[in-house]
Amino acid sequence: MTDKHDRPETTVTAAGRMSGAHFGAVNTPVYRASTILFPDLASMKPGGQPYSYGRRGTPTSKSLEDAIRELEGGAEVVLVPSGLNACTTAILSMVASGDHLLVTDSVYGPTRLFCDTTLKRLGVETSYFAPDAEIGPLLRPNTRAVFRESPGSLTFEIQDIPAIAKAAHVHGASVLMDNTWATPLLFDAHGHGVDLSIQAGTKYLGGHADVNIGYVSANQSHAARLRETHGNMGLAASGDDCFLALRGLRTLAVRLKRHQETALALTQWLRGRPEVVRILYPALPGDPGHALWKRDFKGACGLFGFELVPVPEAAVAAFVEGMHHFGIGYSWGGFESLILPSHIQRTAAPFRAKGPLIRIHAGLEDPGDLIADLDRGFARLKDAT
Ligand SMILES: *Cc1c(COP(=O)(O)O)cnc(C)c1O
Repeated sequence: MTDKHDRPETTVTAAGRMSGAHFGAVNTPVYRASTILFPDLASMKPGGQPYSYGRRGTPTSKSLEDAIRELEGGAEVVLVPSGLNACTTAILSMVASGDHLLVTDSVYGPTRLFCDTTLKRLGVETSYFAPDAEIGPLLRPNTRAVFRESPGSLTFEIQDIPAIAKAAHVHGASVLMDNTWATPLLFDAHGHGVDLSIQAGTKYLGGHADVNIGYVSANQSHAARLRETHGNMGLAASGDDCFLALRGLRTLAVRLKRHQETALALTQWLRGRPEVVRILYPALPGDPGHALWKRDFKGACGLFGFELVPVPEAAVAAFVEGMHHFGIGYSWGGFESLILPSHIQRTAAPFRAKGPLIRIHAGLEDPGDLIADLDRGFARLKDAT
């Protein structure tokens, strides 16, 4: 359906469409299926018929997988029921008892919890490293994989993925990356040396705060292990969720552009506020990760953080509560703006901040309305300080 010269804006509209199928319907419909019937026993043999059992795929899941494969330039894509499951499936497909795993200290919190509990019980040791650390000296003889997330969750440090991939590969370790912030449209993970690219499709792929889904995409040398692990663990995403993710994908490029524009408008405005110490957003000139971001990324999304001057907890609550357009809630990547205080968990190197950290997801509302909302929030903060 797509041409290799197409730009991503075009690819997202065309990828994974099954032209001519389904009576000409533009979108692959939702297939709800567990049992799929065979006309005879011969067609139950490998290669006999394209779909064999709901868990192993339907035309709906295949459309989504095909679309993602085109965007990721990967050899294999597996769909899973959540973003966290994409992280854990990618890790489990790589490690065995006795292995060592290196994980960035700014990793998504639940991924850290998985490593510190379930993975530990399975005999895999995890150690954490500062987002800007050189990983060469940290690699041990039994280091099997390096897990990155760039920019980091909550703190948004950009990491030098090509340099990390080079050091890991020389050592024989695999590189896993949670690429949820940038999506494959804004960071080409496999093109920068990542072996397993992870996406919480819950965020921008779905884009409408109504689906939990995830995927892992593997390059050629990692495809078989990923497919085997995914199959053995019985993982699948539902037909309805695949449909919603595919529908979200069609508008991903235009939404991301708007999310970035609004996040830039908000961060530029916040930068001039006396209540704000610093902004954590690599797209902003002056951010410590800006040069690397410019080198490796094609854009930024709508998620960023900022540090407030030291204020009492009650003042933070007064600021965050009472917003008209920013909801208080987990997750992000939907059309709606969100705001939350961030709680940083570090073990390798402390994250230094004197005041409270706030995370914002800039949604698709009018940027002026959002700025006015924040302005009223700062008035509440001042009253409560
Ligand atoms: C939200 C998120 C996840 C988890 O996605 P769920 O669908 O909520 O499980 C994983 N990684 C990152 C970076 C995320 O922001």
